[in-house]
Amino acid sequence: MKLLLIVFGLMGIPCLISAQTATNKNLPIIDMHMHSYPVEYMGESNIPNPVTGRPSGAASDEELMQATLSEMRRYNIVKAVTSGPLDVVYRWKIEEPKRLIGGVYFDEVTSLPDVEQLRQQFIAGKLGVLGELVAQHAGLSLNDSLFAPYLTLAEELDIPVGVHTGLGPEGLTYTCCPKFRVTYGNPILLEEVLVRHPKLRLYLMHGGWPYLEETKAIMSVYPQVYADLAVINWIIQREEFHEYLRDLIRAGLGKRLMFGSDQMVWPEAIGMAIEGIESAKFLSKEQKRDIFYNNAVRFLKLKETGE
Ligand SMILES: [Zn+2]
Repeated sequence: MKLLLIVFGLMGIPCLISAQTATNKNLPIIDMHMHSYPVEYMGESNIPNPVTGRPSGAASDEELMQATLSEMRRYNIVKAVTSGPLDVVYRWKIEEPKRLIGGVYFDEVTSLPDVEQLRQQFIAGKLGVLGELVAQHAGLSLNDSLFAPYLTLAEELDIPVGVHTGLGPEGLTYTCCPKFRVTYGNPILLEEVLVRHPKLRLYLMHGGWPYLEETKAIMSVYPQVYADLAVINWIIQREEFHEYLRDLIRAGLGKRLMFGSDQMVWPEAIGMAIEGIESAKFLSKEQKRDIFYNNAVRFLKLKETGE
C-alpha cells in the first residue's frame, strides 16, 4: 500500500524493531501480502523506511527485486503473494516462478485489466490472487459495481481475493488521494459482497485494523473469510498491534490469521514484520506456526500439508 510513508513519516514513530531475528527462521513462512514495485513507485527512489528512517539502498528495479528475494530466502519465505504493476509482477515471477504468486493490484491510479485477459493469466498461472484491491483509496468499497465482473471471475476460477481494509496514511485525503474515505476501509462493508458471492475466498488485508468489532463480526459470521496482518505488524505501535492481535485470537480467529509483510520498497520490512509476530509473548508456538504458515496453506489450498 503505497503512500503510507506520508503518514507514518509524520507520526515520528520511534524505532521499535531492534533486530531482524527470527527464532523460527528455518521453518517455512508464507507472506500473503507483498508488492512488486518499481524502485521509484513512490515518486523517487531511496525513500526512508518510515520506522527506521533508513533508505533501502536499492538504486534500480533489479536491485530492489534481488534484495527482496534475498530477504525471502533468508527467512525461508516459501511463498509470497506479490502485487503491483503487472509488468513488474511478471518480471519478478520469471525470476522466482515457484515462490511468487502474482497478484492483481488496484488503487486510485491503477485500473483493473480486461476481465478476459485476466482470465487467461489466471488460467496460465501467471497470476494467482485478485488483490491487493485498494478500493478505499479510489473512494470505493468492494461492493461497487466496478468490481462485480472481477469477483464473479474469482469465484468461478476459485481465485483468492485480497482486499485492503482499515487504515490509510495520515492526511492523505488532502494530498494524494482526495477520494479516499476512512469509511470504505470498514470490513462491515464487505457483507453484501459475501452474500452475493458465497464461494469467494476473501481475505482482509491489514486485518481490518482498527475496526476490531467489525472484523470480529464479519469473520465470525462468514467462516470463509481470512485476514492478513501485514503492515500493522511493523508500522503501527507494537503494543497496539499486539493488543489487536490478542483480541482476534481471543475471539477464536487464530486459525484464519495469516502472516503478511506489505513489503513495498524496503526489503528489510519482511524481517521487521516477522519480528512483530515473534515478539507476541501471548502466542503459543503452535499459534505462531498457524499464522506464519498453516493457515495460508489451507486458505491457498496448497499441496503442502505442513512441516
Ligand atoms: Zn494495503
